[in-house]
Amino acid sequence: MILETFPVGPLACNCTILGDPETHEAIVIDPGDEVGLIHRRLTELGLTLKQILVTHAHIDHVGGALRLKRLTGAPILFNENDLPLLKMMDSQAGWLGVATPETAPPDEYLADGLLVGLEHYPAKVLLTPGHTPGSVCLHFAPLKLLIAGDTLFAGSIGRTDLPGGDYDKIIDSIHTRLLPLPDDTRVLTGHGPATTIGAERSGNPFLHGQ
Ligand SMILES: [Zn+2]
Repeated sequence: MILETFPVGPLACNCTILGDPETHEAIVIDPGDEVGLIHRRLTELGLTLKQILVTHAHIDHVGGALRLKRLTGAPILFNENDLPLLKMMDSQAGWLGVATPETAPPDEYLADGLLVGLEHYPAKVLLTPGHTPGSVCLHFAPLKLLIAGDTLFAGSIGRTDLPGGDYDKIIDSIHTRLLPLPDDTRVLTGHGPATTIGAERSGNPFLHGQ
C-alpha cells in the first residue's frame, strides 16, 4: 500500500494519497490546495487517480478538488449536506484573505454507509456532522485506518463556531460513530499530527467529564 499524508495550503490541511501498488490506482482525500504538488506526486508514484474524496466543504479541504479533477478526470465526492458551504466559497475565501477557488458540486454524494475507495482498500463513509452538517470520516477497516477530517484531532475536536457548526452534534458524532472503533485504529486528522482512537478515548479532554 502507498500512503502519503502531507499538509497543503495556508491552513496546512492534511492531504492524503492512498495508492495500490498492484493496480496502480489511487484516491486523494482533501486536496485543499497545492494541486500541482499533489498531481506531480501521483505521477511520480505512477498512480491513476480514481476518486477525489472530500471530508467536508471548507475551502482548505475542497479548494483544489476541481483543479485536480480537471487534471485527472477523477470524480469528486462529498456529502450533500455541505452543498450550502460550497455556495459560500466567496465568504470562505474572505475569511482567509485568499482568492476564491473555482468549485463544483460533487459527481457523487458521500452518503452514510457508502463504500468508496479502491477495490483492495475500501472505506466506509461515516457521516459525522458537527464541524459542518456534511462532515464525514472515512473508515478503512482492513487497514485499521480512519481519515477524520476536522471532526477529531489529537487532543482536540473540530471547531463548531463557523456556519453550520453544532457542538452537540460533533460530540455526539464522535461518541456514537468514532469511539466504538477499535483502540488501535490509526487516525489521520485534518490538521496536525495523527493519533489513535484509543489515545483519544482515554486522553481527549473534550470527550470526558460530561
Ligand atoms: Zn474544516
